[in-house]
Amino acid sequence: MNFELTSEQKEAKIRFRKFVDKYVVPNASTYDRIEETPLELIKAMANEGYLSALIPPKYFAKGTDTDTHNQDDRGKNIGYDNCAHIGKEMDSITWGLLCEEIGHASGSLVSLLTVHSMVIQALLKWGTEAQRSHWLPLLATGEVIGGFGLTEVKTGSDAKNAQTTAVQDGDSYIISGQKKWISFGQVARLFLILAQVDGKATAFLIEREREGFSTESINGMLGFRSAMLATLNMNNCRIPASNMVGKIGFGFSHVAGTALDQGRYCIAWGCLGLAQGCVDASLAYSTERKQFGVSLKEHQLIQELIADMITQTQAARMLCYNAAFLKENKDPSLIMETSMAKYFASRAALKVASDAVQIHGANGCSDTYPVERHFRDAKIMEIIEGSNQMQQIIISRYGYQRYLSSQPK
Ligand SMILES: Cc1cc2nc3c(=O)[nH]c(=O)nc-3n(C[C@H](O)[C@H](O)[C@H](O)COP(=O)(O)OP(=O)(O)OC[C@H]3O[C@@H](n4cnc5c(N)ncnc54)[C@H](O)[C@@H]3O)c2cc1C
Repeated sequence: MNFELTSEQKEAKIRFRKFVDKYVVPNASTYDRIEETPLELIKAMANEGYLSALIPPKYFAKGTDTDTHNQDDRGKNIGYDNCAHIGKEMDSITWGLLCEEIGHASGSLVSLLTVHSMVIQALLKWGTEAQRSHWLPLLATGEVIGGFGLTEVKTGSDAKNAQTTAVQDGDSYIISGQKKWISFGQVARLFLILAQVDGKATAFLIEREREGFSTESINGMLGFRSAMLATLNMNNCRIPASNMVGKIGFGFSHVAGTALDQGRYCIAWGCLGLAQGCVDASLAYSTERKQFGVSLKEHQLIQELIADMITQTQAARMLCYNAAFLKENKDPSLIMETSMAKYFASRAALKVASDAVQIHGANGCSDTYPVERHFRDAKIMEIIEGSNQMQQIIISRYGYQRYLSSQPK
């Protein structure tokens, strides 16, 4: 296992940081306050190839600004000008580094990469060729943002038992139900949702334009405030049967499973970035800020906090790199190792962010400093993509299978 980045990966990391410093860092606090991610920023990410990074080049095609998929509800264009970087598929480590660098500045924006790539990954693995060749080019350019609709008012962790139904009517399915807390639900144009077909969890694509489909914005969240959450309402929403992804009964175990594996990978790396962002902010602040005649960093109790923060962050990094290494090598233990990376990195991010607020004192409680937002976003990381209790349950099961023998591992 070699954790040394290649020169291309190092260069990519620097490029990602430059993008983040230019577009995200100066505005993240404002976006958090206004609870919006401007479409111009999404467009800039698309132009850098961040939304297409996991799509094989054969699906790339240039869209047009007149395409009807190209506008959000407010009629704003979200197409692209010059996607110079589109067509360059990223390896797993580079994709992780992208999530890390975005997470260094904004948890909300990590969730854009997460849900968008979850839809892409599910289509790549379970979609029909017709679904892939229609949607992937549009997802690649950001003309269409993907959203993932699993959670409902009454079913969160127990998502397999979602109450949304899909009833076949000739060549169509009629979808009825509601999905809640859907990241970027306010702007996404294509949703991958889970519904029951005769009691069997099944995945479908639903386009925003479908009759009977509507969204309601959700505001006032603790964190991820610029992730533009929405409730999705499907009121006898008729979709073609060809919008089914995978087979009847495959929705949770296969399609959502693939999407959630992808989601956990992104969130693990995003948490690493968030934690590193808190470390960096705390190193700078504890160097500048003086109390009792010396800078904070001279106080041993602050050094203890910093030591723990750095160690937790580095441990999270190792688990992320391990997951990336397994992903690159298509190792079957990837799923569980990614689950561990998400579990550990989200806990680490919350602890590190909490310590960062402590080091910043009252300043850490104000939105003048980013650690306050990181702290709120870190708590969300423990809940999404399968809460940490769900991770604990599956990791412990895995532990019994893998380690309950005398063989060395
Ligand atoms: C900011 C944000 C963005 C989100 N984005 C999306 C999205 O894009 N798409 C989407 O589908 N969903 C999204 N969600 C929803 C998220 O996936 C759910 O919140 C999550 O799955 C947990 O479900 P729940 O909130 O209903 O909690 P519940 O399932 O009701 O759980 C409540 C608590 O009980 C614990 N718990 C539940 N069952 C057990 C058990 N068996 N043993 C021990 N503890 C248990 C949970 O861990 C949790 O701590 C988002 C949520 C947030 C906050």
